[in-house]
Formats: sequence, C-alpha cells, structure tokens
Amino acid sequence: MRMLHMCLLLLSAALAGAQQYDVVIEGGRVLDPETGLDAVRNVGINRGKIARISVDALPGKRKIAAGGLVVAPGFIDLHQHGQDLESQQVKAFDGVTTALELEIGVPDVTQFLKAKEGHSLINYGTAASHAAARSLVFGAPLSGAPSATHAGIPEILPKSGPATDLHATPEQMEAIKKRLRAELDAGGLAVGMGIQYTPGATRYEVIEMFRLAAERGVPVYTHMRSFGRIEPGSAIEATSEVIGAAAITGASLHIVHINSTCGADAPECLSMVAGARARGLDVTTEAYPYIAGMTSINSALFNPGWQEKLGIAYSDLVLPDTGEHLTKERFDELHNSSVYRAILTFSNTQELVDKVIPHPLVMIASDGAIGHPRNAGTYSRVLAQYVREKQTLTLMDAIRKMTLMPAQVLERSTPAGHAKGRLQEGADADIVVFDAATIADRATFKAPMEPSVGVRFLVVGGTVIIDEGKMVPDVFPGRAILGPGR
Ligand SMILES: [Zn+2]
Repeated sequence: MRMLHMCLLLLSAALAGAQQYDVVIEGGRVLDPETGLDAVRNVGINRGKIARISVDALPGKRKIAAGGLVVAPGFIDLHQHGQDLESQQVKAFDGVTTALELEIGVPDVTQFLKAKEGHSLINYGTAASHAAARSLVFGAPLSGAPSATHAGIPEILPKSGPATDLHATPEQMEAIKKRLRAELDAGGLAVGMGIQYTPGATRYEVIEMFRLAAERGVPVYTHMRSFGRIEPGSAIEATSEVIGAAAITGASLHIVHINSTCGADAPECLSMVAGARARGLDVTTEAYPYIAGMTSINSALFNPGWQEKLGIAYSDLVLPDTGEHLTKERFDELHNSSVYRAILTFSNTQELVDKVIPHPLVMIASDGAIGHPRNAGTYSRVLAQYVREKQTLTLMDAIRKMTLMPAQVLERSTPAGHAKGRLQEGADADIVVFDAATIADRATFKAPMEPSVGVRFLVVGGTVIIDEGKMVPDVFPGRAILGPGR
C-alpha cells in the first residue's frame, strides 16, 4: 500500500516536470530580430504565450513539423484600412497576425471595437481620427461603413468640401479636440491625421493636434500635407511641418508611406527623418512595395492642382475593378460625386521603391484595402523580391522591418507592444511559419485579392489559423489592441 502511494507520487512529479504544451512548433529555423537568434529550435506555446524555446524536444498536444521552414514573429501591419474578414484572410496568407488602422483611424472607435470583438481572425486596433472628428464638427459625419461601390473599403475619408477645405474656428477646434479625447478614451492607439485630406487644417491646427497627442501620451500617425516638388507645398515642406510639430510638442511621430508621399524626394525625406532622430526626436516611417497608390477619388487629395503636385495625368488614374483609365470628363464626374470610390494612382517608379524598401529606417506597412494588391501581397512581395531575388535585404532585416520595428512603434501607445514582434519566451504566440524558398505574392492590379503562397502555418494568440497552408474555418482568435485611454 505504502509502496503504491510512493509510486503514484513519483509518477505525478514526473508528469509535472514534463510539461505538456498546447502547441509545439518543431525543428524550424527560428528568427528573432531583437536577440539575433537564428537557429533551429523547438517552440512551446501555452495559453497564448510563447512558453519555451529550446533545442530539446518538447511534448505537445499539437505538434507542427517546421523542418526546413522559417519560424518568425507574425507580421505587424500598422497601416491597414480593409478591416473586413476577406481582407483579414488574405493578410493571414501574407503572414500578418496584427493589422491596425493607424494612418487615419476609424470614425467611431467604440463601434469599431464592438463590431470586431469575437469576429476577428487577426489582432486589430485603430487610431482616433482627426479627419472624422473634423467632419463631425463641420456637420458631415463619416460612417466608417464599407462603401456600396467597394465592399470592404470603409468610409474613412471625407468628400472634398467645407469640412476638408475650411479653416476651423477656435470653437470648432475645441470641439475637434473634445471628440479626439473621447475617441482616445474609447481605446484609440494614436491620433491619426490625413492632413492632405483636410487641407483647411492650418499649421496651428496641426500643432494643436500634436499637443493633444503629447498630453495623452500617444503618437501621431500622419499622411502628410502634400506630395511633389512644387513650392510652396512640397513633400519636403510637408515633412518639415510634421517634424516641427513633433519637436514643438514632444509627441512621437510616425510618417506613413514615405514612398508615395515623397516620391522622387523620398531619399531626402528619409535624411530628414534620420536628422530628426539624431537630434533625439521620436520619428519613424514606413513604405509599401508598389509603384501605385490608392485613395478616394472624391477626396481633397484631388483638389485643383493635383496633376502638378503628383506629377501625373488623368490617364494615370485607374479604377481598380474595371481597369478603366480616367479622362478629364470621367474624372470630373467621379470627383464631384458624393459616392466614395477607390482610385489607383500610378505616381511612382520601381527604381525609387527599390531604393526605399531596403533603407534601414523604413518598416513595411501595407496601406491595404480591397482593390490594391498591397492588401494581399505586401509582405510576401518584400520577402520574394528584396530578400530572394534582388538580395538587397537579408532575411533577418526584412523580418525586423515587419515585426520588431512596428512593435517598437506600438510600444509608444501601449505596453502590450512589448509582447508583440518578438520570438522570445513570454511574448505573445503570434507566429508565422513560412517557406523562404517559395514565399511570394500573387496579387496583381488585375487580380488584387489573390492570396500569397508560402505561409504554411499562422498562429494568432496561440490558435492555429493557417494549418498546412489552409485556412482553419470558424476560429476568430484576433484580439483588440487598445490605447492607454482605456
Ligand atoms: Zn495615405
């Protein structure tokens, strides 16, 4: 009797020592850009966290064979407009485990968070939108709902009109700030500003919004005031404006898509970011690997003078669903319409994009929404074209641009950022397992929602959502990432 009791005790002790993990990813090449780890390891996941990284075999309820595959932190997209399920699916096949709407932000943070809870494949979050707050105060509220003409592209940009083009009175400015404070209280991660979409916002209004961000301890994400080289109103001037506002107020600043905003002057804009950082300012930036942008045709971006500013003609504007190149007549019709419609803008060169993507200060972000291949292909395209084909980036540097760098930007908003973008014990189990030899984008301007190939497994918060290259049905492990206000 006594002997049996002893045996049971020993048995239970042995079981406790050999901890059973929920999921074990076995024998993959594990990369972590923060510690520099690049070696074959086993990764044990428990309760949504990376519990163990080891050369020893780990026991697991579920085992994933990752031999010959790369195991990296899931990609973090700071700039994703399409928050619909279809977009989340193609992003998952592109290796993305977190996709945040930070450039502009949704018009109603509470409504957005409520709609996504329990229905999200990957992690989500949003900025508080200056453009939406301004529209609301000017009596032209945005809905944030998918537009009728382009299911999936939410209405986040105002139509060109008084709400975009007029200066705000002091009372209106106070009302905009009040709305932004409420949106930050609701969980907004940042103040999102599309200054080019609200050209009526004075330099003073911009500084006031940066002040509000600084006061609330969140960064400003901005699509800057202007494109191109024509003075006044060049991209260089626009970069000076926001770096100046960051210096004056102390707010952290993230400049979105420096590739498209600065165009031919992107190398100089990057020198300006480097200079600001050397002077101790917290300024970061991002780019996507395509020569065309996409925006809304009735927005203030197309206020008079756009051809000179962007250096493009009517025929460089293309409707994504039909491939139709615009004429003057067609442009006038669509620009003056109250219907929100997406338009592709072919305004950049491959040469320039090839210079920007490998730059050490540039992180990868997609600016994705249905209609543009960047929604589905951004991350795989960088791995295929710049790591494998052109070899202008190492695999580790590419992974750093997709994981650690955006996580460090996210840390400005929330301590939750520290557990993202790392393949380390204690980090969130957001993990991509891919084949570095075959990973590639398949989305094109003609077929923009073709999923990428090469991602074999994707884990979000410990839950496998892509298994052996196939989407697992009916799992929604995506969680909200919230700002400090909530
Ligand atoms: Zn933009």
